[in-house]
Amino acid sequence: MGLLFTLITDHKPLVPLLSTRGLDDLPPRILRFRLRLLRFSFKIVHVPGKTLVTADTLSRAPVEGPPSAADLQLEKEVEVFVDTVVSCLPATDKRLEEIKSTQEKDKLCTKVKDYCLIGWPEKCNIDPDVKIYWQHRMDLNVGHGLLMKGERLVIPPPLRADILQRLHEGHQGISKCRARAKEAVWWPGISAQIGRMVGNCETCQKYRLQNREPLLSTPLPDRPWQKVGMDLFEWLKKQYVLIIDFFSRYIEVAQLKQASAEGTIKAVKEAFARHGTPETVVSDNGPQFSSEQFRQFAKEYQFTHVTSSPRYPQANGEAERAVRTIKDLWKKDNDFNRALLAYRATPLEHGFSPAQLLMGRNLRTALPQLTTKLEPNWPDLQTFRKKDEEGRCEQAKHYNRRHRTRQLSKLTPGQKVWITTEGTTGEVVRPANTPRSYVVETDRGFLRRNRSHLRPTGTLTRS
Ligand SMILES: [Zn+2]
Repeated sequence: MGLLFTLITDHKPLVPLLSTRGLDDLPPRILRFRLRLLRFSFKIVHVPGKTLVTADTLSRAPVEGPPSAADLQLEKEVEVFVDTVVSCLPATDKRLEEIKSTQEKDKLCTKVKDYCLIGWPEKCNIDPDVKIYWQHRMDLNVGHGLLMKGERLVIPPPLRADILQRLHEGHQGISKCRARAKEAVWWPGISAQIGRMVGNCETCQKYRLQNREPLLSTPLPDRPWQKVGMDLFEWLKKQYVLIIDFFSRYIEVAQLKQASAEGTIKAVKEAFARHGTPETVVSDNGPQFSSEQFRQFAKEYQFTHVTSSPRYPQANGEAERAVRTIKDLWKKDNDFNRALLAYRATPLEHGFSPAQLLMGRNLRTALPQLTTKLEPNWPDLQTFRKKDEEGRCEQAKHYNRRHRTRQLSKLTPGQKVWITTEGTTGEVVRPANTPRSYVVETDRGFLRRNRSHLRPTGTLTRS
């Protein structure tokens, strides 16, 4: 072990940068310094400038003697490491080249870059036009000649309008556009500009009411593509089958040549060839799904098929909400695939994109991004689960408040019930194998009905 010492600084932002933040998200300048410190065990303490007596003299005192061979070696290692962290700029990526050359032509960017390299002066000594960058100085850095804020590319003014358009591809809402920006690009005031752009977008205005986040109602499965929901829908006179993965919320959509059971199965098989066969498939009772062919398909491919109860199709809500999400996107973008790509590549409320959760990597879109961002990288699943859980609680609270849902009592076999959908009485035989539904015997035979359509009569139990 090296020396144990205490590092005292009057610069408060430095404390978290040097003590708590992971090496991965450090700006390169700080990273270099931190790596140099790795040789030592240190703790860092913040002391207000006034009480830091020796700072003024010491910070200006020259470093004693020429650098040792060990120092130079470490310096070299650090440079190599920083280079790897900062990503490699592929010469083929014209977009990054364009950003670089536009940055070079931009006076402000050039000034900021210089400050990054030679060090920032005191706030009062800074050019007024650069002031807006001053508060971000700890995160600003230069890698491969590109000015960046953390891992986000700093976009110079001439390119901003175009980038704003790309952020809004697929006409997703403000928070989604901001989430996309956070993954890739930055400039001072970008957040407010995104707000204004989406607020003024005519297409979005027109469809504002339909634009909503899907309610996360089913519990999170253990793995990606373990449990999926399916639904059929029509769009501009064409038939589609939609598949949504309950883990990642990744959505597959395929146009059907024929809306028959065979046509549906063929399209579903293609998706299974791509992602594997899920353990469980949830769908409604549409003729395609309740067909003998689909039963055979489930048997052959070895998955469990669960259908929602006939009079309570809301049980397939997950897939139906996904259909609404897709229709909302398609209303606003004629390029259906681009809209799908935007959905899959955009972080959801918990901060991870469907593609990241299903494939362990980000998808490249028209939005310029550092190539490191596109390298395989699984989200921290513990963090994801925690955030997902929080999101569900929050949404359930809102939902219950809106709909004043109440928990209906469980029914026991033998219970006499009034079946509201049939206007007749019956007797509960057993719970059905779909959530909150029961098999009921009536004069006309056995029926499967959701609990909300069964009103207990007699004295056995109370609802
Ligand atoms: Zn829009």
